[in-house]
Amino acid sequence: MTYLLNSPDNFADEAVRGLVASHPELLVEVPGGVARSTQTPEGQPALVIGGGSGHYPAFAGWVGPGMGHGAPCGNIFSSPSASEVYSVVRNAENGGGVILGFGNYAGDVLHFGLAAEKLRHEGIDVRIVTVSDDIASNSPENHRDRRGVAGDLPVFKIAGAAIEAGADLDEAERVAWKANDATRSFGLAFEGCTLPGADEPLFHVEKGRMGEGLGIHGEPGVRDSPLGSASEVADLLFDAVTAEEPVRGENGYEGRVAVILNGLGTVKYEELFVVYARIAERLEEKGFTAVRPEVGEFVTSLDMAGLSLTFVFLDEELETLWTAPVETPAYRRGAMPAANRIPRADIWNAGEAEIPQSSEDSRECARAITAVLETFQRVCAESEAELGRLDAVAGDGDHGQGMAFGSRGAAQAAAKAVERNAGARTTLLLAGQAWADAAGGTSGALWGAALTSAGGVFTDTDGATDEVIVDAVCAGIDAVLRLGGAQPGDKTMVDAAVPFRAALREAFDMDAGAAITTAAPAAREAADKTADIAARLGRARVLGEKSVGTPDPGALSFALLMAALGEHLTR
Ligand code: ADP
Ligand code: MG
Repeated sequence: MTYLLNSPDNFADEAVRGLVASHPELLVEVPGGVARSTQTPEGQPALVIGGGSGHYPAFAGWVGPGMGHGAPCGNIFSSPSASEVYSVVRNAENGGGVILGFGNYAGDVLHFGLAAEKLRHEGIDVRIVTVSDDIASNSPENHRDRRGVAGDLPVFKIAGAAIEAGADLDEAERVAWKANDATRSFGLAFEGCTLPGADEPLFHVEKGRMGEGLGIHGEPGVRDSPLGSASEVADLLFDAVTAEEPVRGENGYEGRVAVILNGLGTVKYEELFVVYARIAERLEEKGFTAVRPEVGEFVTSLDMAGLSLTFVFLDEELETLWTAPVETPAYRRGAMPAANRIPRADIWNAGEAEIPQSSEDSRECARAITAVLETFQRVCAESEAELGRLDAVAGDGDHGQGMAFGSRGAAQAAAKAVERNAGARTTLLLAGQAWADAAGGTSGALWGAALTSAGGVFTDTDGATDEVIVDAVCAGIDAVLRLGGAQPGDKTMVDAAVPFRAALREAFDMDAGAAITTAAPAAREAADKTADIAARLGRARVLGEKSVGTPDPGALSFALLMAALGEHLTR
């Protein structure tokens, strides 16, 4: 559990602030995360690495010469939002383009992908590299579809070293993918982790047993087995990771490996060394040479009790980059040239959004929209614990938090927009942006896009008819389908949204509130029925079978909000 905190809501932000305050020679706080406090040489590609908080030293602890140029920092275990990624890139990029590096998770793919689109529109060359080292999460043929765990360290270290050595964007991207394709990890958990402010871990592992193939966001293991001795655990990890060893003597690989034994938060360094002692024996027995092995905490999961083993199967190029100098708060090696120490000049900031002219009718509508979002905020706060519990079964337990943070951010942004005399369209656009920013995660991106698309149906000059309201709701659902790409049956919020949209179109005559109220039970029934199926998309897909018997949290929250919307409008 977390003993020291001021408030769970600000925990991640305050931790970043303290990290920056303790490393001013390397880091500066920028909107959305951190960047180097030193100048990036002009024309050098920027490596922007990120993900949720709760994994220190990943990711903000790896920003500095020889590794990252910036790190957007999301809430605990939730991806940063697209605008956080965008803002950190604007502060890190210096004419050489950017590589966005992150673990392969749905929420990160969405938010980093949206940021990449916006940056490309502005003429910045953006490449995306998703780390996918976790062998438990997919088959060897689908290596790039696996999720990312401790492999983040070597992949970003190697890509950062290539950039430091003068690689251009094409070259840096090539090397980053090569490092990812050479990296394999496997992890075990003995007990789940507890979110700051929560009393209970996200999951428990039975005493005397261990979860094999855990995730780093409190996702439980893919299977349970009896907990063995340190040497038995070492053997299990070693055998799993080396099962995918490439052929020696081919493609420059000769059995030289970067080895990382990673503690997830609660396992002590001494325990890790006991395990590593056995791994060293196995390395020798199998004729491997460990190159600069690392034993310690690199990609943590709050206070998860567990560990993981990572191998990078090195050729000469990867080995040179793996052992090159690096200077970041949490990862240092060798000496960096002084040229890297020129302080940066300024910090980029998006500034306050402009509010276009609006009519009184549209402002009236904006006030009504704000009231709806306040209702959403109340409903999300009431169901936060239940949605979190559902998400912890096969996901990472943050769906309640994401919906609560997102709806509150949206309601506050809408109220502020109304104060500044915004019309309906502008109010919803700003609320959508704020939802994604405040929530992060997959559902944050989807709800943010839904509000934004719904806003596009309104104007700042006209009031809203019932028809406009129904069209706006449908446009929001269409945005979720477009952006998420899920089909009914994948066990996502789409399972509730699609039948709801059909029922709404059918029920609508003159009265939007009545039609939404009539259609809402279709969403709820469909959400409840998702309990019968296994997840095929999103974070929960890795543990698809474990999700059977539990409804999809995102489908349920959608149904709850549509019921609340109908009731609110009818009143
Ligand atoms: P994360 O999965 O990033 O932790 P949340 O826990 O907030 O995000 O949201 C999880 C929910 O997101 C799932 O229950 C599911 O309903 C929804 N979801 C996941 N992927 C998709 C998708 N591709 N399309 C629509 N909804 C999705
Ligand atoms: Mg989740």
